[in-house]
Amino acid sequence: MKDNLQSPLKSLDDWENDLLVRYPEKGSKKTEEFRDYDSSDRAEGVKTFYKLNHEIQTYDFVCKKEKQFLTFNKKEMSLWNAVDFLNTLVDDSDPDIELDQFQHLLQTSEAIKADGHEDWFVLTGFLHDLGKVLCLFGEPQWAVVGDTFPVGCQFSDKIVHDEFFTLNADSKNPKYNTKLGMYNENCGLDKVKMSWGHDEYLYQILKDFLPKPALYMIRYHSFYAQHREEAYNHLLNKEDHENFEWVKKFNKYDLYSKAPTPPDSKALRPYYEDLVSKYLPEKLRF
Ligand code: FE
Ligand code: FE
Repeated sequence: MKDNLQSPLKSLDDWENDLLVRYPEKGSKKTEEFRDYDSSDRAEGVKTFYKLNHEIQTYDFVCKKEKQFLTFNKKEMSLWNAVDFLNTLVDDSDPDIELDQFQHLLQTSEAIKADGHEDWFVLTGFLHDLGKVLCLFGEPQWAVVGDTFPVGCQFSDKIVHDEFFTLNADSKNPKYNTKLGMYNENCGLDKVKMSWGHDEYLYQILKDFLPKPALYMIRYHSFYAQHREEAYNHLLNKEDHENFEWVKKFNKYDLYSKAPTPPDSKALRPYYEDLVSKYLPEKLRF
C-alpha cells in the first residue's frame, strides 16, 4: 500500500484524465467516456491530491524545492537514459488501460509531426514530461504534477479546487495575498515564481538548448489557469502573450493525442535519435 499523502492518485494519469473531464475535446465523445471516471474513487484521489497540493505549495515551499533540485546533482543521464528511467515509473493503475510514459511522449510528438510542424516542436512533444522523473527521486505526486499557478500573490478562483487554498498559509499572509503580491503589474512571468512541479524543473534543465517557444511550452504546459482561463493577464508581458500562443497550440497535442494503438517505438527510434542529437548535448544533469 502506498502512502496516501505521498501518492493520493492511483496513477499520475488520473490528473491528466481529470483534465479531459474539465477540458473535453470539442466534438469528441470523451466527456461521455470519462463520466464514469468522475464518480469513481479516482475522483476522490484527485480531490485529495489537489487538497495537498494547494495546502503545501507555498512561496517558501517552492524556494525550498528550488534549492533542493536546481543544483542538478541527482543524476547525469543522456536523454534516452532519462526516457528509460522515467519509464520505470509504475503506479497502481490498470496496466491494460494506461499507456506508459514513453508512449504518452511519443503520441504527443507524433501528433505534432503529423501536422507538419517544425522539428523542435516535435522534439518538445517528445520530452515535455521528462520532469516527472522527480517522482523517482522520491517526490510526492502533488509536487510533480497537477495544474501549476503563481505563488507570492493571490490564488485565482479560476484554479481547479480553489477552495483548498484557504488551507495555504500564504493566503493569510498580507505579503502574498493581494492581487499582485510580490510582483509588479505585467512584470513578465520570468519574474514570477510558479508552484513547483515537472514543468519548471525540466525548463531549468533544458533552458540553454531549445528555442524560446519550446521553452514556454515546457515551462507553462500545466498552467491551465492562464493558458485556458487567462486568470493572470495582470502578470504577463508582451513576450509572454506572444509565446502563450505556442503553449495553447501545444496543449491540444498534450491532452488530445491519446490514440488507442500505441506508437511503434522501435521503428520511430532512429528519427528521434537524430532529433535529440541535433538539439541536445550528450548528457543532461538532473
Ligand atoms: Fe506534463
Ligand atoms: Fe504530457
